[in-house]
Amino acid sequence: MTKHPQVLFKNRLPGETVFIDGFRKTGGYRGLEKALKTMTPAEVRETVKDAGLRGRGGAGFSTGLKWSFFPADQPGPKYLVVNGDEMEPGTYKDRVLLESDPHQVIEGVIIAAYALRVSEAYIFIRFAYERCARNLERAVAEAEAAGFLAGAGGLKIHVHRSAGRYILGEETAQLNGIEGVRPTPRSKPPFPAVKGLFGKPTTVNNVETLACVPHILTGGADWFKGLAQNAGGAGTKLFGLSGHLKTTECFELPVGITLGEVIEIGGGMRGGRPFKACLPGGASTPFLTAAHLDVEMDFDPLSAAGSRFGTAGVTVFEAGTCMVGATLNLLRFFARESCGWCTPCRDGLAMVRWILEEIEEGRGSAELIAMLRDQKRNISGRSFCALAEGAMGPVTGLLEHFEDELEDHVRQGRCPFVKN
Ligand code: NAD
Repeated sequence: MTKHPQVLFKNRLPGETVFIDGFRKTGGYRGLEKALKTMTPAEVRETVKDAGLRGRGGAGFSTGLKWSFFPADQPGPKYLVVNGDEMEPGTYKDRVLLESDPHQVIEGVIIAAYALRVSEAYIFIRFAYERCARNLERAVAEAEAAGFLAGAGGLKIHVHRSAGRYILGEETAQLNGIEGVRPTPRSKPPFPAVKGLFGKPTTVNNVETLACVPHILTGGADWFKGLAQNAGGAGTKLFGLSGHLKTTECFELPVGITLGEVIEIGGGMRGGRPFKACLPGGASTPFLTAAHLDVEMDFDPLSAAGSRFGTAGVTVFEAGTCMVGATLNLLRFFARESCGWCTPCRDGLAMVRWILEEIEEGRGSAELIAMLRDQKRNISGRSFCALAEGAMGPVTGLLEHFEDELEDHVRQGRCPFVKN
């Protein structure tokens, strides 16, 4: 297996956490030093933009562009929020990062705060990620004791534990959660850059996104772009593998690696059964099939293939898996986690779950398949936030690539994959 460059995982040792001494021994806080001593905030923002860094939380929005919208020079309170509410099924890369090397994220937070001229940051962490929260609290205390927060103008960093629902990962619901009000999403625009936390300009960035920033400053924008394996890509990416692979671990791999190579790095298919399908970027991304093994794992190529790069949480399914059942399993999660704020999500996802249950349990009909198509048309693009849109990702893939399985369930009046 080719040895791929390890940037975010260079200090990673299974089961161990690197704190400040180990982190500084391998070049930690040099990116911050470079920013504070040799660069203006505008130059930091420009370098991140030139590096082509795209948000690692799922949407892939250009980080430099997001920072360029931010009114950094406006006087008064402004905030940075770090989204660590990783709760997408099949996504666990931020947890691995925070369990192994939390100072990378803290260094990225301090650099971002300098670039955006904010003096207060909130790290919003998933309820179940207690070890990550404790690592972050220790890393913040160590960075403070070492003078890094004072050096960046007296930055305050709060570690905020989520109350534990999926909707809190949506950036505006998260702002409400920090404010202590009901965490329903807010309408966008205005984007948080204009009106965010406590009504003030706010940038929300993902954990892994910020961890890339110190490396971009030390290595330079061209070096970061060159880490990608494809033209137009930038950086490395943490891929969380799960499902029917031999090795279901988190790997740091170049952006632009092909899906087939990712599967090989995961040791190939468990038990030797052929590959059938995968979710390439978390539970809210449409399925890919064996026809897509050469696709480059990056935002634009995956969109062109009808799916999304999302969080690069790759869940693999072997031949013999019932894709109706797999989709139903995901829809049970999404329907339960709908915050209930808008009708397409609250009622639509419950309806989609019910249709899939009917078909999977042998009570399907051609009308129900037609209703599923209808729900897809009526939910996609019509919900208040991205939750329902994302929930319809696997349904879109099911209808696109596995319609024959829906029909087989109806024809046989049972799940054809269950042996009895
Ligand atoms: P989005 O495309 O609406 O926004 C992405 C980011 O860009 C946001 O921070 C937004 O404020 C900013 N932005 C977009 N347009 C802007 C503009 N014109 N001006 C200023 N800022 C702008 O996507 P989203 O709703 O934030 O996120 C959806 C994604 O979240 C999905 O793609 C999914 O993959 C991902 N997701 C991840 C997890 C997880 O556990 N990591 C969970 C659920 C969903």
